[in-house]
Order: sequence, then structure tokens, then C-alpha cells
Amino acid sequence: MSFLEVLKDYDRCRVAERIAAQTAADVERALGNERRHAEDLLALLSPAAEPFLEAMAQKAHRQTVQRFGRNILLYAPLYLSNECVNGCLYCGFSAKNQVPRRTLSFDEIEREARVLHDQGFRHILLVTGESPKALDNAFLAAAARRIRHLFSSISIEVYPMETEGYREMIDAGIDGLTIYQETYDAELYQRMHPFGKKRDFAFRLATPERGGAAGLRRIGIGSLLGLGDFRFEGFCTGLHALYLSRHFWRTQLTVSFPRIRPADGGFQPLSPVSDRHFVQLICALRLLLPDVGLVLSTRESAQLRDNLLPLGITQMSAGSCTAPGGYADKDHSTRQFAIDDDRSPAEVCRLIRARGYEAVWKDWDAAFLERAAGQ
Ligand code: SF4
Repeated sequence: MSFLEVLKDYDRCRVAERIAAQTAADVERALGNERRHAEDLLALLSPAAEPFLEAMAQKAHRQTVQRFGRNILLYAPLYLSNECVNGCLYCGFSAKNQVPRRTLSFDEIEREARVLHDQGFRHILLVTGESPKALDNAFLAAAARRIRHLFSSISIEVYPMETEGYREMIDAGIDGLTIYQETYDAELYQRMHPFGKKRDFAFRLATPERGGAAGLRRIGIGSLLGLGDFRFEGFCTGLHALYLSRHFWRTQLTVSFPRIRPADGGFQPLSPVSDRHFVQLICALRLLLPDVGLVLSTRESAQLRDNLLPLGITQMSAGSCTAPGGYADKDHSTRQFAIDDDRSPAEVCRLIRARGYEAVWKDWDAAFLERAAGQ
């Protein structure tokens, strides 16, 4: 059964009613359980859980240190192109926005990659819009081949592919995929994506399954916070993560928490998520998913990122630029959205250490795979 079929059993209004009906006793039971299930997530995301936030944070912290130690993996996005044929209402790269468009040449990609490498990064995320004319699978594979000697792990956050496409990516040295569903509410999804291939809710939803079937080693999911109600989106994200970890148990799963930021086009969040609810969401998902990596981006402020560090986060971006070519020439005029934490990677690293954690630049080497294959 695909996750699309699983999701069909969870009507948005019915889920909202069930979350609203949770009581303090339900929250206490969820907190007390050794292993937690979807029912517990309903309680942990509910308004009834808000007075228990401190207890949730303490458990989330203990659980994370037990499973992951005090390590925070650092990564950086590398934007290859801002060309896009889709019309996502919340995105600065939407085809409707009159912004300068740019796809980097392979020389420019290598220049950007070297800047990140010199800053210490060994994990990078290649990001593009969706424009088959500007950039296709062959381009992406060639870009990865050009820079793979510089990095231990290369992930992509690009247009959804077929399973065969992900196999081509693996051959080129790419080992991870990040794909946000944006919203698990199919109706809202249609409104947010008025035109372009991205309108296909079902195809996007099944993308992590195709990536898992191809054998990708890392898969990241998440919803764009500020579109739908965070409790419903958080619940569906939890269900999705449970489904993927059951079906692709060899794949390392991560969940990200992107909150909508200012972007060209001036989109305002439909359901703003407060800092308090943001913390509740992170703790609730950590308590449901003890082995899943939780990722925080530079969309959040430096102060909030510092405070969230002990609550379950295991990966962070640092020093990010969301404009193609922006690391080497500091031109941010074509950025996807504004970042909030603009500290340098070295500063973020110092802060992580000051908080008693270890900043990790590399937790994987492709040589592991080669050795395993040779045995
Ligand atoms: S979110 Fe992605 S697909 Fe949508 S407009 Fe932006 S770059 Fe294009």
C-alpha cells in the first residue's frame, strides 16, 4: 500500500477534531509510553499538550542524546539554478515573478563548491527550481560528478524524478534526496500550486518512495510551515516518516521544519506558526521518531536556533545563501527567500561547541559503500 492510500484514511477535518478532543490524560499517557504511535502524536500536537511543553522538551532532549549523542551535522545548500516553470505562490523563484534568472555553468558550480569546501563543509545539498530547458537529469548528474571529489555526501533538493532518475543520480555520486510535500492537505496543495508540473499532489507525495526504491541512502521530508494548520501537517509528517522508515529501513530518514520566509512575490503565511508551536512540533516529532534526524535551516533566527539545539535537532545548515552563485560573488539579488541566521559557518560552529555539542562536518564517506560492495 502506498503512502497516498494510507493518507486517504485521514480526513483533514476529522484529524483536526481528534486533535482538539485530546485531554491532559491523553498527553500524560503519550509522554509515559516507551514507544509511541500515531495516536500519541495526536495528543502531543494538541492544545492539551501546551502546558506540558517543558516535560516534552526534557524528554526530547534525553531521547536525542541517547540515540545521536551530542553531535550536530552541518551542511550547506548550493543553488545551481533559479529557473522554474512552476507557480508555487510562496516562492521567490515562481515563474510569475520577474526576477533575474540564472543557471550556473559547471565552472561556476565548481567555484561555489570550492568556497563551501574551504569553509569546512563536506555535506552539501544541490538545489534547483524545475525547468527541464535549463537543467535536467543529465546536467545534474554531470554537476555532481564535477564536484563529488570535494564532498563526502551530496544530496539534492530538486524536481521529483522517476525511480530510474534517482538511480542515475546514485551513479553520479548523489546519495540523498530532500523533498518537501509543502502541505499534506490535497485541496490546499492545489491552491498553492496553480500551474506547472508540481500541481500533481500524488506524484510529489510518492517521490520519497521512488527515491527509497532506487536505493538512496538519505531521504528528507517535511511540510512548509505556514501553509496548513501545523497540527495537521505535523501529524501527517509523522505518519509519512513512520511509513517510510518501515518500508525503507536501510535509508536514513530526516524531517525538516521550514517556516515560510519573506520572498519575492510577497506571500504571507496562511497559518502562521508561533515560536511556541514550532517548539511543540519539533518535540512531538522527536518523541514519535527517536531515530529520525531533525533538521533546522537558517530560515530561523540565530537566537531561536541556539535555543532549539538541545530539543532534538541533529542537523543544521550554516552560512546559507539561497541565490545561485551567491557564495563566490556575494550577489544575493536572485535569492529564493531571505535567511534569518546570517552567522558564518565558523561562528555557528563556535556556538555549537559553547553549548556542549560537537559540530560534525562529515558523518559518511562513499568509501564505506565501495568497501561493503567489495566484500
Ligand atoms: S518551490 Fe520549487 S518548484 Fe515551486 S516555484 Fe519555487 S523553485 Fe519552483
